[in-house]
Amino acid sequence: MSKKLLLKDAHIEGIRYFETYRKQGGYTAAEKALKMTPDEILEEVKASGLRGRGGAGFPTGMKWSFLAKPEGVPRHLVVNADESEPGTFKDRYLMEFLPHVLIEGMLISSFCLGSNVSYIYIRGEYSWIPDILEEAIEEAKAAGFLGKNILGTGFDCEIYVQRGGGAYICGEETALLESLEGKRGNPRLKPPFPAVKGLWERPTVVNNVESIAAVVPIIDIGGAEYAKIGVGRSTGTKLISACGNINKPGVYEIDMTITVEEFIYSDEYCGGIPNGKRLKACIPGGSSVPIVPANLLLKTVNGEPRYMNYESLADGGFATGTMMGSGGFIVLDEDQCVVEHTMTLARFYNHESCGQCTPCREGTGWMYKILKKIENGQGKMEDIDLLWDIQRKIEGNTICPLGDAAAWPVAAAIRHFRDEFEWHVKKPELCLTQNYGLANY
Ligand code: NAD
Ligand code: SF4
Repeated sequence: MSKKLLLKDAHIEGIRYFETYRKQGGYTAAEKALKMTPDEILEEVKASGLRGRGGAGFPTGMKWSFLAKPEGVPRHLVVNADESEPGTFKDRYLMEFLPHVLIEGMLISSFCLGSNVSYIYIRGEYSWIPDILEEAIEEAKAAGFLGKNILGTGFDCEIYVQRGGGAYICGEETALLESLEGKRGNPRLKPPFPAVKGLWERPTVVNNVESIAAVVPIIDIGGAEYAKIGVGRSTGTKLISACGNINKPGVYEIDMTITVEEFIYSDEYCGGIPNGKRLKACIPGGSSVPIVPANLLLKTVNGEPRYMNYESLADGGFATGTMMGSGGFIVLDEDQCVVEHTMTLARFYNHESCGQCTPCREGTGWMYKILKKIENGQGKMEDIDLLWDIQRKIEGNTICPLGDAAAWPVAAAIRHFRDEFEWHVKKPELCLTQNYGLANY
């Protein structure tokens, strides 16, 4: 059974409220941290090996150590709660049921980074959650854990919640900062990174909800102990939101030592595939990461079992591996149509493109049109090669990762399921009437 750090108290009634959270030991990590120096906290976070839980997996301690500290310029912590990656809903769970873990993590992180004004930028569609967060902030303030001179340390910290307008692109950190400044959420060119020039051109750390929440157990048990959980550079625990063709969709906390097979079939997690269907493929890290067929999902290229961690999922590189990403684990059974699935994603990325770069603006729409044609039985064989060519021209040629995110699912679908695309071209009458899966081979 995986160790639980973030969700260990999730089952306790009333844990959403300060009083219950405090009774369970809540805010003791904050009390401990406020007696440490910011540098000591930073060392704990570095020692923990925590990697960003939003998708990129960038080492959190390293990101914090890049924060510029020019004299007299305010610094900010911004929590990215614009969780919009299809298949990803683990931050929603944390904020809805355990808001004080996030607020406590923000207090510790703000103290470490020297942020007196910190923000939570939350996706517009999570319309009921800002009230939960604002209530938790008020409770923490009333108990002296936010506001002025927190616990008599002389440290002041306010947290504000900002609702997004429902654009996926505002989850990209620089688009998020533009939006927070009241502008249209267009991504900025990096560098400069937000750690140097972020919100209102001030040094800013932008971190995912789960990353900041993880700071609480890190301070609680110490960075070195946290690093002992997991394996290699995949330290600590990770929240996974599981969905698709599984018996038990939901949010699970794993310690990154379990295999993909165990995660899908064990009753502790997804509980297998409904109606005894066969596993066809999986997208393990949210819609932006490459789809992997069952044979490569259960084993790596070296014949080893594939584990639910950063390194193992990526084993084999881009050709056969995938990514941990945001932890949005989407399972496809044998009846699912990869062409239809890829078309749906292409439509999504086309809709969400901000339009600044030509390869993304034009390429995502073009890919969607071709995929729709193939899915509707009007495709030609050369369309498959054209699709391949378009995605190659998008990848790496855009301002922000949305371009790559649109290209990778198409590339992986053609690489692993080319015969399925060809079947749609050769037998179009069948793909209009039935889905195509392994059973039809
Ligand atoms: P990135 O690799 O560009 O950056 C990762 C983080 O490290 C950023 O905060 C960046 O500022 C920082 N960083 C990197 N190099 C730095 C340097 N030299 N100095 C200072 N800071 C530095 O990736 P990203 O754009 O933050 O994220 C892309 C990922 O987001 C994708 O892989 C995807 O999985 C994920 N994603 C998640 C969601 C979601 O809903 N959770 C939605 C869309 C995409
Ligand atoms: Fe906008 Fe797409 Fe360019 Fe990102 S890659 S800046 S979403 S056009």
